[in-house]
Amino acid sequence: MKRIFEDTATAFSVKSDTALERAYFLFKLISKEPLVKIGTAVTNFALKANLPVERLIRATVFDHFCGGVNEHDCEPVMDAMHEKNVFSVLDYSVEGKSNDAYFDQVQQKIESLITFATTKKHIPFVVFKPTALGRISLYEKVGLSAILSDQEKHDWSLVKARFRSICLAASNNNIPLLIDGEESWMQDAADQLVCEMMQEFNKDKILIYNTLQAYRWDRHNYIKGLYEYATLHDFKIGIKIVRGAYMEKERIRAAEKGYKSPICENKTATDENFNTIVSFMLSHIDRIAVFLGTHNEESTYLLMDAMEKNGIPKNDSRIWFGQLYGMSDHISYNLAANNFNVSKYLPFGPVKDVMPYLMRRAEENTSVAGQTNRELDLLAAERKRRKIQ
Ligand SMILES: Cc1cc2nc3c(=O)[nH]c(=O)nc-3n(C[C@H](O)[C@H](O)[C@H](O)COP(=O)(O)OP(=O)(O)OC[C@H]3O[C@@H](n4cnc5c(N)ncnc54)[C@H](O)[C@@H]3O)c2cc1C
Repeated sequence: MKRIFEDTATAFSVKSDTALERAYFLFKLISKEPLVKIGTAVTNFALKANLPVERLIRATVFDHFCGGVNEHDCEPVMDAMHEKNVFSVLDYSVEGKSNDAYFDQVQQKIESLITFATTKKHIPFVVFKPTALGRISLYEKVGLSAILSDQEKHDWSLVKARFRSICLAASNNNIPLLIDGEESWMQDAADQLVCEMMQEFNKDKILIYNTLQAYRWDRHNYIKGLYEYATLHDFKIGIKIVRGAYMEKERIRAAEKGYKSPICENKTATDENFNTIVSFMLSHIDRIAVFLGTHNEESTYLLMDAMEKNGIPKNDSRIWFGQLYGMSDHISYNLAANNFNVSKYLPFGPVKDVMPYLMRRAEENTSVAGQTNRELDLLAAERKRRKIQ
């Protein structure tokens, strides 16, 4: 496969010189661990103390990683990306609350995003997290088939109703839904729920996508089992495949509680599992649609290559590539320029409420040194090309 990700002119074509400079200095800052730690602590303190730092956050890290404070505020960003054939997956990134009022509010928000998506051709998917609709401890109990109290049974019926209401809205409006993957101890119950939704709504079209985290060594068996079940019951499968974002938490919990870690023993094993599962899905593309959520260039080339070898057109509607807004533009924009389907998760929400999301991005980019260096090298190459000092 021809290497296409080095083309920085295409990669940063929507960035003005000022935005390019901001990205460069931001990645320089977050590549330094002590600075991220201090920055995170100071920002948290300033926000809690109501100090006027929102504008500063907005002008720096927020505008780099988020589209805006609400969906309408995101429109200029979505329009600019769409001009380059890059689509948006609006990601309502208000986190950290866990009560019925919040769960109901998220349900309404997601349903309103589905309606909003019907008015825009740039939004191919709407996304949500299962734990934004119910307590993680309840998912865990349901996944373990534990006995539920009457209150818990009632709460679980509410979670199922919220799920179904969102899926029904997606189906009525013909907008596909990505359902994020989270911690392994809540995922069994979520998998079961999403499977029920696929069985109901993925009869003719693929509207409901579950997330498969390839850092879990049991996921190859999971997809094979789901495929058999879907064949037997004649429905289709949508899968967003990612490597997985909770590795450290998973390992610590497994060690503390004394069970076998659900995570592959090393990065190579995760990469192999990822590739094996992608090939499995591609060989069953008649029934499985794939959303490849990754910043890994080799995984991306591998799928591009396999598509070519299997005679699958680049813009086949069953295959999408996805990256997070603010990261790996060299992958997104070069894929789009070469006619592949590509979208970016575009987080949005009030500045204060998306802080947990922003902190995670900063910390993740600090810990994944290789990726930050790659971003910096590409930004430096583009600065040089534009003759910015
Ligand atoms: C569009 C999009 C949607 C996403 N949605 C989700 C989601 O719903 N749920 C979710 O959990 N994550 C999600 N992620 C995040 C994703 O899981 C990864 O954390 C992130 O993308 C980094 O992986 P990579 O494939 O891009 O890159 P790489 O740098 O190649 O891989 C890094 C990943 O490899 C794995 N890994 C690293 N070291 C080891 C090790 N020693 N042993 C075993 N495995 C290791 C970890 O999963 C780590 O995150 C999403 C990412 C994108 C781009």
